[in-house]
Amino acid sequence: MKVHLSFDVEIWCDGWDDLDRKFPAQFERYVYGRSAAGDFALPHALKVLRQYDLPAVFFVEPLFAGRFGVEPLREIVGLIQDAGQEVQLHLHPEWSDEIQPRPFEAAHTKRQHLSYYTLNEQLCLLKLGLALLDEAGAQAINAFRAGSFACNADTYQALSQLGLRYDSSLNPCHPDSGLDLRGVEDFHRPSQIQAVESLPMTVFTDGFGKPRPAQMGACSFAEMRAALASAHEQGVAHFMILSHNFETLVPGSTKPDRFVVSRFEQLCAHLADRSDRYEVCGFKTPGFGVQFGGRRADIRAPMLASARRHLEQIARRLI
Ligand SMILES: [Zn+2]
Repeated sequence: MKVHLSFDVEIWCDGWDDLDRKFPAQFERYVYGRSAAGDFALPHALKVLRQYDLPAVFFVEPLFAGRFGVEPLREIVGLIQDAGQEVQLHLHPEWSDEIQPRPFEAAHTKRQHLSYYTLNEQLCLLKLGLALLDEAGAQAINAFRAGSFACNADTYQALSQLGLRYDSSLNPCHPDSGLDLRGVEDFHRPSQIQAVESLPMTVFTDGFGKPRPAQMGACSFAEMRAALASAHEQGVAHFMILSHNFETLVPGSTKPDRFVVSRFEQLCAHLADRSDRYEVCGFKTPGFGVQFGGRRADIRAPMLASARRHLEQIARRLI
């Protein structure tokens, strides 16, 4: 089974006021996550991946560079590529009205989701994102993920026109993902959508019977390990895991979240240990290809594994 460790890399400024003053400190937090205990944002993820020799996929949000210049973006791209990892395209179009000059005429009000933009506007934003990443030194981008998974049919039209081969924007658990594609496209298995090869987020049923995306910050390690095993047993071809550059940080702080740090380290150790079962790879890994179709699996994690997550949440609050 191919396992994809995907990270969405993005920077926020704690609201949209006073952006230019806030940006430098927010950049430090989101990119480096410096604390007395060490650096826990991107450098930590890259270090652990190197330790276990695992290739991940970093979907980098570039539109912020339309506001603050390309240098900070170059720094992010450099960190990732110098560690031998791949950079791909992520877009949060809520930046479009903060960019000067305006990327298109109607970019004067804030619209959060990509699906709120016309096909031509989506094309413009995708081209701008690719140009910024290219200027920042990113190599051979061939995959995309929409911010908040909020793609629509036009997104696949735009990706097809631009020749972006892979997409990982469909997430059956996310209320804004592919609203006009529900019941039309496959949200659970790899499929071809126009000229694009779609690899949706992996979702499993947790021990309490609820659907849960395979996200580092939202699952216990025991759940992730059980979901991987369950998918593997059922012959699933691709397992897509999500994390963010800031998921190992306590929200609103530069302190590391020890639970998420430990989950990620345990997951990487497990994947490296079970390389007989799991082939960890990205979209630029030599020989990578999408395996389409197959039976729709019923991926499950047991009650004990999910109870473990609840215990961790309680412990986290107490700490
Ligand atoms: Zn995002």
